[in-house]
Amino acid sequence: MVFVANATAGIKLVMEAFRDNDRGYWYGYHADSHTSLVGVREAASAGSTCFLSDHEVEEWLSNKINPSPSSSEETKETKFLGLFAYPAQSNMNGRRLSLSWPGQLRSSNLPRHTNVFSLLDAAALVSTAQLDLSDPITAPDFTVLSFYKTFGFPDLGALIIRKQSIEPLLSRKYFGGGTVQVVSCMKEQWHIKKEDSIHEFLEDGSLPIHSIVALDCALRVYSRLFGNPELVSSHTSFLSRELYNRLSSLRHGNGQHMCRIYKASSSNYGDCLTQGPIIALNFLDYKGNYVSNSEIEKLALIRNIQFRTGGLCNPGGIQTLLGLAPWELKRNFSAGYRCGLENDIMRGKPTGVIRLSLGAMSNLNDITAFVELVKEYFVEYQDLKPLAIPTSPTYYIERLTIFPIKSCGSYEILGDWDVHAQGLAFDREWCVLRQGSNRALSQKEYPKMALIKPRIDLENGFLHVEYHQSKIKIPLSADPRQYKAQNQSQLCNNNTINLQTYTSKETTNFFTNAIGTPCTLARLPTYSSGPNNNNNTTTTRHSKPHLQPHHPNNLPPNQPPNTPQNPSQTLLTNESPILTISLSSLNHLNSQIKLSHGKPAQASVFRANILLGEHPPPSQNQNPTASPTPEHPYAEDTWRHMRIIPSSPSSPSPSIYFTFPSPCRRCQMICIDQDTAERDREPFCTLAKTRRRMGNVLFGLHTVFLGVGGERGARIKVGDIVVPIKEEEVQGDERLKGLLGCS
Ligand SMILES: *Cc1c(COP(=O)(O)O)cnc(C)c1O
Repeated sequence: MVFVANATAGIKLVMEAFRDNDRGYWYGYHADSHTSLVGVREAASAGSTCFLSDHEVEEWLSNKINPSPSSSEETKETKFLGLFAYPAQSNMNGRRLSLSWPGQLRSSNLPRHTNVFSLLDAAALVSTAQLDLSDPITAPDFTVLSFYKTFGFPDLGALIIRKQSIEPLLSRKYFGGGTVQVVSCMKEQWHIKKEDSIHEFLEDGSLPIHSIVALDCALRVYSRLFGNPELVSSHTSFLSRELYNRLSSLRHGNGQHMCRIYKASSSNYGDCLTQGPIIALNFLDYKGNYVSNSEIEKLALIRNIQFRTGGLCNPGGIQTLLGLAPWELKRNFSAGYRCGLENDIMRGKPTGVIRLSLGAMSNLNDITAFVELVKEYFVEYQDLKPLAIPTSPTYYIERLTIFPIKSCGSYEILGDWDVHAQGLAFDREWCVLRQGSNRALSQKEYPKMALIKPRIDLENGFLHVEYHQSKIKIPLSADPRQYKAQNQSQLCNNNTINLQTYTSKETTNFFTNAIGTPCTLARLPTYSSGPNNNNNTTTTRHSKPHLQPHHPNNLPPNQPPNTPQNPSQTLLTNESPILTISLSSLNHLNSQIKLSHGKPAQASVFRANILLGEHPPPSQNQNPTASPTPEHPYAEDTWRHMRIIPSSPSSPSPSIYFTFPSPCRRCQMICIDQDTAERDREPFCTLAKTRRRMGNVLFGLHTVFLGVGGERGARIKVGDIVVPIKEEEVQGDERLKGLLGCS
């Protein structure tokens, strides 16, 4: 046994030796292989073959097909060298593969099999099963595994070599500290490898001594806790059968199955020989459409349930299961799909799966907890009926809020305020950068940022910032002496923009002490367009290069949110200039949260700029004794634009138009209380149950200012009347048609 860092390192060690062989080598691998096995094909100078099924492997072993280079072309058949690799258990769906192939290969006396060695990847298998290598007739030539997968600790792996199979490893050219006896490197260059014991010439460098010592402890603790691997195997096998049975019986109200489980027809949950305790699946909604994996993952995390989603480092397996053709992979790749991103459903097909893995520590309660979560959030008993929508409710601006420093506290606007294509004045004009890295910090990672309270003081021209007892003030004018030289910063996604970083010790200390990590303030470049219509203020107009103006008519109608077509569009859905939410929808959501005894959400958690109220504003309410108008939650789902009518009748100014490019997709960040910085389950849990559309949890509308007959921008204030405009109502509004560029 050779200690290595992990299973991958063991595979690479074998690969190195085969590659360094003068004859080169042919490589055959099973389609269920982990990426770490697939990569070995790149060094196979005599070609490689991917066996698409067990059947193909068996046909090759029984000489029905011959994918390896034809031995007839070789004058001496012994020259041929090959390596055949496969996983003992698929790391994707837990299917256990035959352990008899290495023996079959060895006992075959066909010339084309004689020099083919077997490499068994046991990394997934041995975490919940015993692997018996005691018989050298049937054992694989090389076996790799990772101990941390069985014991959790230490981080260590092993390459186990069958002693009689050492020959191809001897051709490895590299030598390093520990693997040689003598090295000469002056005039003559020669060395003598340690070949007395097999492991010595393969152990490059110092051994991970402490990990090896810890492994001994791990083995003892394991047997004390679990007895032996057979017990772990039968325990996990029982649990996985239970989980499989419960999940496969879940149905929606209309009888539609909820889970598409990727089980091989040849394997059975509960049978340790053919199936490990892993379930790979996707969820389906009422209509049979796939539910986004990342959505399920977000909810599960709130309940402390962890599983892996995506391609799982098993490219062949995933492509076979999901029926993804190479051209589809390429198309998805061009459309922005990458491992680990959230766009996990592309053109109606999932790009990955959910993998539920059970281990020695799992128990029946874990299974119940997961099945309950699924039932609670994803079983649909009836078609979601759209809420009845009124013909013409009246809306008004209930509250205007800006967030001068991205991810920090809010500042509520009481008077009227500038709005332009880049959003509300001073909104998200500053951000906090991690020192050295030039990355903007976010409340997701640092909830305490919510407690940093900014205030815009136009009278004196300062941004005041408070955190508990400490305060600082920052001039609103862009005095270059405050800043470091222009700085390239990664603020959002892949857009690089120029930021100006504040260098004073006071500013740096303030933010570093408040957030608890080295950081400082930075400002997006601004430009002044001279004094505005309100003469006693020193407001400047601002450009936000990261918030590019949005052109609504370029957007296909009803485009689902977060379907990236190009990077800048993704940027817009993440970072639109303005966010609008409806108080009626919030009230409705809170009444649902109360039903489940959860903590009602404050409007502030949604970090919206415009909060819309539904009743007529108090001044217009002619009859105060009239019963309150019923509210119309989620009426905004049908809005495409809105007109804001400035409410001051003394100085009549024209209506201002806004458009809603897309609904806003939500994540757990809305669970951070903006007054205490504490996290809760709500409102995300209830929102996920009630507002999931095409795999996204939606609340609020991204909003873009459409202009008011010129570049000037406009001013809005609390109390202004808001008229929502649906798609079919655009025709009736000449001014809006003009702004949208319709004929
Ligand atoms: C985890 C795993 C690997 C990779 O193991 P590392 O420890 O990351 O090198 C390879 N094959 C299978 C089947 C696995 O489950």
